[in-house]
Amino acid sequence: MPAAIGILGGTFDPPHAGHVAAAVVAQKQLGLDEVRIIPAGQAPLRTGAPVASPADRAEMCRLAFAAYPWATVDEREMRREGTSWSVETAQELAKEYPESRRVWILGADQLARLDRWKDVAELCRLVEFAVLSRDGIPTEPPAAIASCIRLTILQAPPIRVSSTELREALRRGDSARNGLPLAVARHIDERSLYQA
Ligand code: ATP
Repeated sequence: MPAAIGILGGTFDPPHAGHVAAAVVAQKQLGLDEVRIIPAGQAPLRTGAPVASPADRAEMCRLAFAAYPWATVDEREMRREGTSWSVETAQELAKEYPESRRVWILGADQLARLDRWKDVAELCRLVEFAVLSRDGIPTEPPAAIASCIRLTILQAPPIRVSSTELREALRRGDSARNGLPLAVARHIDERSLYQA
């Protein structure tokens, strides 16, 4: 059983350098044996379905993280019906890895609204968190969960990239695709994803 596993959930529509940086920095700074990349089926707190299919998002995650032997793409949330609740994923992982340190990795934007996640007190019991700064958003937890959360602030320069910006650039046909891993960009071209 790994001593420490990281969990990076997201829509990954598409995966980009910010996701890779979050996993790499957490793996290094916390000495994680493994990082699970877990693409959501339908993410909570989001309107509208992801643009790319589950199969494409999972494949793009595999391509984005191919260089990192400690990273594995875990498709459990895509197989589950309905909304992908993080607390259910954390419960499953706690059963599978009861002795491991379990660290949920997220960006500051998600930490800022963690109090709106389903059953957050239970989630805080099941996993600790590691946060990476993003877009100048403070890396502080919301007051409502400040007393229960176990949180590490990762030290790394912020990476200014988002899936939303990339989808918009791809739809416009922009050649600027900063932050899109090359293999992911190739997959997007081959499959004509995110076009108008
Ligand atoms: P979208 O623009 O579609 O909302 P996103 O770029 O925020 O997508 P998600 O797949 O929603 O990407 O993010 C998954 C996780 O990765 C979240 O915890 C998010 O905060 C974190 N993350 C995404 N981009 C960055 C970034 N540039 N720096 C740090 N963390 C990031």
